[in-house]
Amino acid sequence: MRIILIGAPGAGKGTQAESIKAKYPIAHISTGDILRANVKAGTELGKNAKGYMDAGKLVPDEIIIAMVESRLQEADCKSGFLLDGFPRTTPQAEALDVILKKLGIALDAVIDLAIDDEVVVQRLTTRRGCKSCGAIYNTLFNPTKVEGVCDKCGGEVIQRDDDKESVIRNRLSVFHEQTAPLIEYYRKQGLLHTIDATGGKDAVLNFLEKEKGCC
Ligand code: AMP
Repeated sequence: MRIILIGAPGAGKGTQAESIKAKYPIAHISTGDILRANVKAGTELGKNAKGYMDAGKLVPDEIIIAMVESRLQEADCKSGFLLDGFPRTTPQAEALDVILKKLGIALDAVIDLAIDDEVVVQRLTTRRGCKSCGAIYNTLFNPTKVEGVCDKCGGEVIQRDDDKESVIRNRLSVFHEQTAPLIEYYRKQGLLHTIDATGGKDAVLNFLEKEKGCC
């Protein structure tokens, strides 16, 4: 199964990916997670990306495309992959088509996780994450037992710099301007399926199970 998850920041791409991964042995490729790991490790890539990320802007296409091209050639992608947060621009989608052609593989489906902007703002301003293990919490719906301390590993639980409201609004307008056109791009390729992002953490998994023929 080779699928793409498209959705505004906060639509829950990461959460849906976790539930799919638990059922299907495919590689989960989150460009945001790869970039954050590079920022944390202080790599050259991380240093280049940090300023864009903190401002809620997109990291330049050529950096992201090279990163994904090499990731798609790793062994775990042989059994399939789920792209989360990539592509985010038309040049990235076009580059992905070229990369997949070169690798002799094709996409099975593109899932558009549809969500209202105001729901995103509420979800993200209350989102928190563990600095050590990456576990995700929400101050309203899924708080840690002890404030600021991860239930799973005892690590420090913090708000991402790009989850501040002004940055979220910026990320949403970047999504509408640069990423939303991909919905049409993939509709034309006959790959698009739209799913309500408020349908729970298994919404995409349930769809994939129901529509076995699509993937
Ligand atoms: P995410 O966790 O997917 O919301 O990504 C966090 C940040 O990483 C984004 O706001 C961008 O700055 C950067 N980023 C992640 N994926 C991409 C991409 N495909 N193209 C450009 N920038 C990206």
